Amino acid sequence: MKTKSDFDVLIVGGGLVGLTAALACAQAGFKIGVIDIAKPADQLDDTHDGRASAIATASFRMMRALGVADALVEGDNTHAGPINQILVSDGQAGEAPSPLNLFFDAAQIEEVNAGEPLGYMVENRRMRHALHIQTKNQKNITWIAPARVCHFQADASKTTLSFDDGRTLSASLLVAADGRNSFVRKLAGIGVTAWPCNQKAIVTTVEHELPHDGIAHELFLPSGPFAILPLTGNRASIVWTETPRAADAAMALDNDQFAAELARRFGDFLGKVWPIAPRWCYPLSFQHAKTYIGERLVLIGDAAHGIHPIAGQGFNLGLRDAAALAEILVQARAEGRDIGTEFTLDKFENWRKFDNTALTHACDVFNRLFSNNVGPLKHARRLGLATVDKLPPLREFFMKEASGQVGDLPPLLRGKSYERHHGAESSL
Ligand SMILES: Cc1cc2nc3c(=O)[nH]c(=O)nc-3n(C[C@H](O)[C@H](O)[C@H](O)COP(=O)(O)OP(=O)(O)OC[C@H]3O[C@@H](n4cnc5c(N)ncnc54)[C@H](O)[C@@H]3O)c2cc1C
Repeated sequence: MKTKSDFDVLIVGGGLVGLTAALACAQAGFKIGVIDIAKPADQLDDTHDGRASAIATASFRMMRALGVADALVEGDNTHAGPINQILVSDGQAGEAPSPLNLFFDAAQIEEVNAGEPLGYMVENRRMRHALHIQTKNQKNITWIAPARVCHFQADASKTTLSFDDGRTLSASLLVAADGRNSFVRKLAGIGVTAWPCNQKAIVTTVEHELPHDGIAHELFLPSGPFAILPLTGNRASIVWTETPRAADAAMALDNDQFAAELARRFGDFLGKVWPIAPRWCYPLSFQHAKTYIGERLVLIGDAAHGIHPIAGQGFNLGLRDAAALAEILVQARAEGRDIGTEFTLDKFENWRKFDNTALTHACDVFNRLFSNNVGPLKHARRLGLATVDKLPPLREFFMKEASGQVGDLPPLLRGKSYERHHGAESSL
């Protein structure tokens, strides 16, 4: 017989994916605990994460359904900047990009996008803030942070987590959302397939003289992609990918030298450009967990798959994991099944593994194809971009992919919210 546990679901990792999963499952009526090793106040500090994320149209619909998009609004302004168009081109620092390029326009997929942009750019600090507000307002979510899990043990009815201060907590299901170096994944003995890409990404925010008109630019330079991503106002988030040695050298430049290097890559289409935020540097690699599930355990977000930011999809994949997980738990409950059993968790893995695997490998192939200066490859990829640009069905396929509207989408990604539950009691 199933003994009652403290929570339906305990989520280790209160990052962007863990918190979204917590909200999705809580709004579906489950009793959730979110455990994070860091202090929530430290995570909300502006210096915690300088990145901004491209949130695909479907992912943003999910954020609306969860009420997170509302929490991104301050006064009359929202912190979500629309991406109306994307220009992909190939080039060389200090030179004009090749005219053989690929241009995506939201208007070209109006019928599936219902007039929405291709996605939205949101600074991670703003998204984290909105998620903290929403999770704090949700009565059936308990924050357990800062706290350090040191052990967990599953049995026939629950999984029990032991903390380093001697506490124990139990749940029907444990969710690992503790990022690339997932402690829970390691403790469960789940290995990863990992491969390096010999690149680091420098991230900062710039202000520019001329409006960007919601156009995202992905310029492929020989050392890696250089992305100019439209934020609200006359601001853009920069993701500048380099070899580790060149990235370290760029990080060591003084402000004027750094601004000059940025300007060399930007050109002058946005007028004068100047950095307005600190620089962050992220080592890049690929990794994929050998399985997403264990005994009463499921891995989501970067704990399950860590990809290159070339297509701005890592967080989006994590959001799709969160939406699929919530739906599978809802179905299990509706059928009177235990939410932590292998039968239930297999459904999650089957739903998510193909999408995650396909995108992880597609990002790897694109990065290898574009991050080099090999003559024949350079010509082939420029022709490839121009060819896709001239073939509307292919162009539309890539646009639908970028806006997250392909495959079997769970209800949240179609913008359907669960009837919001606010009670503190477990529904099981
Ligand atoms: C340069 C760059 C640009 C990117 N741009 C985009 C983009 O435009 N669009 C996009 O979709 N994706 C983008 N990504 C990917 C995206 O940032 C990640 O996929 C996403 O942040 C992963 O979120 P997560 O919650 O799974 O993991 P994390 O953000 O790593 O969160 C993990 C959480 O777990 C906690 N934790 C860690 N260890 C423990 C422990 N032992 N116990 C308890 N808690 C623990 C941490 O404190 C943290 O809160 C980008 C990535 C990079 C590097």
